[in-house]
Amino acid sequence: NKSDSKPLPIVIIGNGPSGICLSYLLSGYVPYIKKGSIHPHPILHRKLEETPEVSIIDQDLEYLSEGLEGRSQSPVALLFDTLQRPDTDFGGTVDSVLTWWNETNRAIPHLVLGRNPPGGAWHFIEGSMITLSQGEWMGLPDLPFKDWLRKKRRGLRNNRATAEDIAQYYLHYVAKKGLQKNFICGTVVTSVRKRNNDSFFPEKEKEDDQFASGNLFQVDGFIKNMSDGQQPFSIYAENVVLATGTYDSPTKLKVHGEDLPFVHHKLSALEEAVKNKRISMTSDPILIVGAGLTAADAILFAHHFSIPVIHVFRRRVNDPGLIFNQLPQMMYPEYHKVHQMMKEQSVACAGPYECYISLPEHHVLSFRGNKKCVVQDKNGHQKVFNISLAFVLIGSNPNLSFLPNNGTDLAIDNEQPVNSKRNPINVNPFTYECVQEKGLYAIGPLAGDNFVRFVQGGALAIASSLLKKANKNPP
Ligand SMILES: Cc1cc2nc3c(=O)[nH]c(=O)nc-3n(C[C@H](O)[C@H](O)[C@H](O)COP(=O)(O)OP(=O)(O)OC[C@H]3O[C@@H](n4cnc5c(N)ncnc54)[C@H](O)[C@@H]3O)c2cc1C
Repeated sequence: NKSDSKPLPIVIIGNGPSGICLSYLLSGYVPYIKKGSIHPHPILHRKLEETPEVSIIDQDLEYLSEGLEGRSQSPVALLFDTLQRPDTDFGGTVDSVLTWWNETNRAIPHLVLGRNPPGGAWHFIEGSMITLSQGEWMGLPDLPFKDWLRKKRRGLRNNRATAEDIAQYYLHYVAKKGLQKNFICGTVVTSVRKRNNDSFFPEKEKEDDQFASGNLFQVDGFIKNMSDGQQPFSIYAENVVLATGTYDSPTKLKVHGEDLPFVHHKLSALEEAVKNKRISMTSDPILIVGAGLTAADAILFAHHFSIPVIHVFRRRVNDPGLIFNQLPQMMYPEYHKVHQMMKEQSVACAGPYECYISLPEHHVLSFRGNKKCVVQDKNGHQKVFNISLAFVLIGSNPNLSFLPNNGTDLAIDNEQPVNSKRNPINVNPFTYECVQEKGLYAIGPLAGDNFVRFVQGGALAIASSLLKKANKNPP
């Protein structure tokens, strides 16, 4: 109800690992260095010893993270990760050097809005899929994934976890840490606008004088209810955190016929087609387009059910940019197998694998209504295939349609759409506040942090910034 709504200090849009981790920190859970712990990084250890009584969230994150190196470009992501998993990149299992205190006086009221149950993308990834990351790296603060798994009497596979276990763990995390009261699931945000006109966000309405100054955002959307109806809502917030991830809009080929009903853009459509017996081992082949891990998952899935596959991708099989050429074979035997199939079973030379043909350095020209697909090789030669279904699995883009200009103005290159790998949202590396818009924050893949172990540093940076703003730092 707009008329009696008081602005909330923080609204988080998106309830995946990023939103959950931030909600934990904003709920008054404060990290300190465990007494007597020794961090294996000697310089960091020395810095941590300087003020052990001050929580990490209240320390100078820029100073602490200076000089850290690892698999992320974000200094705060590296810092928070190395505090939680001190020697993990060297194969070690040293326990976290952090201890967590619940200081309720430091909690900041906030809401986490999300379309689906807490856990974000993990509720849509095929449950049996095994994570690329080690299972341990999927855990959130102060609840090691391996402990949860042990209680469930389940184990890791090759140190990796299933997507289903990860989704269950995130649901459990929210319940265990008492965060549910902050989460409103089944909520879709359709608009975020700033309510003053000194920024790139256009002024939307003027009737409310009380909101005329300072940062104030109006967040609009609807709540899906049981009867499939929609109930609109409108919330005012002093700060808004974009935690919506990047898996909502599959990338399109932009070729003729791509909208035909037999062309799909999600792996889940393949699982459904098999389940509903729309395709089987006797059907015409399915077409899989792409050479990333989702395309590989689709090939493995189809292979499991002996469904014939034609696999089209643009790169050479030994292109160093291809993800399969970057993964250690020992840790990822299933992806190594797909790579082998791609190499050994091209249309030009029959190989040992039944029901699979690879077409490297080809691209799709068009789809036709009679379930035909036209592909072209690098020399311009065309081939036409009869297919049963097509799956275009070439990546995804964030859907920021709830922001003016689809959030493009917030990106590093503000003339190109936001993209987690090539053009993330431009944030201050130590607060994750948008450079273009005060009071607006971005976290996770939107801010360029693509792995769960690294999205958590963004949460630390945002919580630290918001605590300072709320003046909730200890004297
Ligand atoms: C197939 C696959 C495999 C992966 N494997 C790994 C792995 O092994 N290791 C790893 O670390 N990472 C992996 N990732 C990446 C990982 O999923 C992300 O890093 C992580 O989920 C990002 O968390 P997030 O909370 O920022 O976003 P998400 O998990 O994407 O959650 C964002 C949520 O916000 C919701 N949302 C979006 N827009 C709105 C709106 N307007 N209103 C309301 N809600 C909205 C979305 O529906 C979604 O549920 C994988 C991703 C995929 C797709």
